[in-house]
Amino acid sequence: MSAATTATLVTQTWSGPLERPESIPAAADIVIIGGGIVGVSTAWFLAKQGVRVVLCEKGHIAGEQSGRNWGWVRQQGRDAREMPMIMESLNIWRTLAKDIGEDVGFMQTGCLYAARTDGELEGYAAWLPTAREYGLDTRVISGDEIAQLVPGATTKWKGGTYTASDGQAEPHKAAPAIARAAARHGAAILTACAVRGVETQGGRVSAVVTEAGTIKTRMVLCAAGAWTSMFCRSLDITLPQLTLNGTVVRTAPGKKVLNTCVWDSDSGIRRRQDGGYNVAHSSFLEHPIVPSTFRFAFKYLPAFRQEFGGVSLSIGREFIDEWRTPKRWKLDAESPFEKTRVLNPQPRPRAIAGIRKIIAERFPQLAGIDIAEAWTGVVETTPDAVPVIDEAETLPGFYIATGLSGHGFGIGPGAGKAIAGMLTGTDTGIDVSEFRLSRLFDGTRMHLQA
Ligand SMILES: Cc1cc2nc3c(=O)[nH]c(=O)nc-3n(C[C@H](O)[C@H](O)[C@H](O)COP(=O)(O)OP(=O)(O)OC[C@H]3O[C@@H](n4cnc5c(N)ncnc54)[C@H](O)[C@@H]3O)c2cc1C
Repeated sequence: MSAATTATLVTQTWSGPLERPESIPAAADIVIIGGGIVGVSTAWFLAKQGVRVVLCEKGHIAGEQSGRNWGWVRQQGRDAREMPMIMESLNIWRTLAKDIGEDVGFMQTGCLYAARTDGELEGYAAWLPTAREYGLDTRVISGDEIAQLVPGATTKWKGGTYTASDGQAEPHKAAPAIARAAARHGAAILTACAVRGVETQGGRVSAVVTEAGTIKTRMVLCAAGAWTSMFCRSLDITLPQLTLNGTVVRTAPGKKVLNTCVWDSDSGIRRRQDGGYNVAHSSFLEHPIVPSTFRFAFKYLPAFRQEFGGVSLSIGREFIDEWRTPKRWKLDAESPFEKTRVLNPQPRPRAIAGIRKIIAERFPQLAGIDIAEAWTGVVETTPDAVPVIDEAETLPGFYIATGLSGHGFGIGPGAGKAIAGMLTGTDTGIDVSEFRLSRLFDGTRMHLQA
């Protein structure tokens, strides 16, 4: 990687040795598969209610998407179905550090979509009716106001949409801190503990089988991120899901050139808590073609046309890897989840070069800043870019929470609260029925957001 040198020290969630459990609980009320922001937040809300919860993570807590994202906590631009959950999530983020007794880097810095053309501005502003419906503070702002929010930029934007109540948090801190909070409330958080499959009795879940042994339970939540479709397939449950690879860089600390998270048609940038910047090039999202691409192509056609217009296609190792991966496996032998502990594709040099160029041209005060680190995250998506939160119709006791589609970090705590409510039958005020799996098959509300 062409990244340099005087890196500030940040302990990434996917680095360091794997910590294996010495022993595992024999039984639980609920077992959660996956230690991303969704799994740990759900575990925290369940444990606070006194539910005996065990969370199994095959690698590190937040080793995949939840530790690799840009760190935006954004309400702006969301599909209306997500609004109650993201607004509740913001409420949780605001007091999270106090509630769990650990810093998560949350700051209410706002979020700006900056437009260079009238057409772009119109596109962003088309979301304002949704903002109004939910009483959100999103508004159209002028190029002059943008210049105050992003004083270090040379670009002259026409205008944009801005939501002051949006924010940001630090992905390397948040999910691990929430996991520790869940553990303090009694949850068992097991890392390097892949779930291989589930056992059933009388047609419903009776246990999960992990690489470290079996845990008896009548309820399982599969919050396995990019692995969920494969896990479900092994249980004869079809979940349309495809992935995109996105490269992100973290710079060393530099001068303050902006006061908010900024999205522009070619990039996304925010200033981190440590004074460095997370920067990504929006046109370097790549979909590696795999057998599932063909399996789900029909469902994703509208999304590819409309939402993922900037996505490039590649074909390589991933195709062979998925081709070779069995659809089912024995539960008493090593499973695919143990073979790839952490999804960690190489960052794309072209993307890093593009990011360097954007930084140098747009923010002269940051020209030549050290790129402390670069990484790639594998983003999982559903065809309508909205989550699936549901119990599988064919397997009572097996619940799914996935498909947060590139914007699940911000909504993660709210999702955790809503999912915990679904599992315990508690009313959280967040209706998850919009996120049922069957919508992807029966065609209702398959619209994509503007
Ligand atoms: C580059 C990038 C930028 C993004 N930017 C943003 C952003 O700015 N704001 C935002 O809101 N969202 C963003 N996202 C999206 C966000 O990161 C995800 O939507 C969110 O983290 C998903 O959380 P999760 O818990 O569902 O999945 P994950 O974080 O992927 O966690 C799933 C976990 O399940 C584990 N697992 C899988 N199978 C098994 C098994 N069989 N047994 C045990 N464990 C298993 C995996 O190891 C993994 O750790 C971004 C994502 C990426 C990659």
